[in-house]
Amino acid sequence: MSKIIVQKFGGTSVGSVERIDAVAEIIKNASKSNYIIVVVSAMGGETNKLIKLSKHFSEDPDKREFDALVSTGETVSSALLAMALHSKGIKAKSYSASQIAMKTTNTFSKAKILDVNAKKILEVVKDNTIPIITGFQGITEGGDVTTLGRGGSDTTAVAIAAQVGALRCDIYTDVDGIFTTDPKIVSNAKKLDSITMEEMLELAGQGAKVMQTRAVEFANKYNVPVRVLSSFNEGNGTLITLKDESMENALVSGIAFQKDQIKFTLHGVGDVPGTAFRILGPISDAEVEVDVIVQNVSVDGKTDFTFTVSSEDEDTVKRVLENVKNDISFKELIVDSNIAKVSLVGVGMRSQAGVASKAFKALSENDVNIQIICTSEIKITMVVEKDLVDKTVEVLHKEFELEK
Ligand code: ADP
Ligand code: ASP
Ligand code: MG
Repeated sequence: MSKIIVQKFGGTSVGSVERIDAVAEIIKNASKSNYIIVVVSAMGGETNKLIKLSKHFSEDPDKREFDALVSTGETVSSALLAMALHSKGIKAKSYSASQIAMKTTNTFSKAKILDVNAKKILEVVKDNTIPIITGFQGITEGGDVTTLGRGGSDTTAVAIAAQVGALRCDIYTDVDGIFTTDPKIVSNAKKLDSITMEEMLELAGQGAKVMQTRAVEFANKYNVPVRVLSSFNEGNGTLITLKDESMENALVSGIAFQKDQIKFTLHGVGDVPGTAFRILGPISDAEVEVDVIVQNVSVDGKTDFTFTVSSEDEDTVKRVLENVKNDISFKELIVDSNIAKVSLVGVGMRSQAGVASKAFKALSENDVNIQIICTSEIKITMVVEKDLVDKTVEVLHKEFELEK
């Protein structure tokens, strides 16, 4: 079966019955020329409400029950959207993760997709019925409900698109596409017509929440063409291109930032082989992703070891460090939550020098102190004080003339 398009609608897009009706209209129109499979998020704000509710009896609720609860927002929106389509004379059926065997690992709240029953979904499509699948949800081998992490419906959609061999995965959201930076922070940010998969991987990984990082990783691994577009305004959105077809690569394509970050510094740690592994090994075993990692030049055999993680992992990292304290001696643990990361991303950096110095000059002229600098082939990441993040993004956006 060819010509299948997977359409994913985010929380704001299905935030009210009026919005659900508008989305049903988009699906109805698209179904005139292609087979459609739909993936939905919970109605805007619902997941946050459920998370708050889960903390009523304990600050640290049972992980299995937490996922069982927070996954229910998607169940509501999928059934409602099916009803909206019925009211327009379109055949549609809602499906939960368990109904389509969306198998995941058993890491609650951060589960990874292992497999999905594409045959079942295709049977529904063949019956001229539009499957409306709950995003974000999964089930373990043993049948427990899991969730895929915040923004996880994007990953559900791309994974399904990959499994059914869809022509494209359309991610409908509340902005017109992928911009040079978050248009809610920089008002003259420019919408991009296309962006390379490589750049999108970096932007998502560095905090541009317009797509969940794992969704971009899936699209890259399985060669799924993805388009990000608005469910509010008509337009072509932004295509994430699998191959870099442009002759001239942008020096800086976009700026991403992440505020919910926390910095750990182990001060006065022994500069001996195996230290980094003994610190980061158990952290990675606890499924915590570590980003910026810096080890300073050592003085008298002692050094400082710094890394950043997402704020939600603060307690886990503290617990892990407490456990390894006997293996690695250090003078002091410094935990700083008053930080944020800002990253410049562009494939053009590979062939042209000077991006870093231009950025540092602009920031110094605007009194922004950079605490840590970390670079890769197509990215420069800077850690700054949390209050300065909007200013940092604005200054860099202007400096690299991204509005043009
Ligand atoms: P949805 O509920 O549709 O999944 P999200 O809130 O998860 O929507 O993602 C869309 C939001 O991502 C936008 O409203 C915007 O504020 C934010 N965003 C961050 N960086 C970018 C960017 N570079 N381009 C577009 N949107 C961005
Ligand atoms: N509803 C989930 C969340 O708010 C998943 C998603 O919207 O993609 O994170
Ligand atoms: Mg999202």
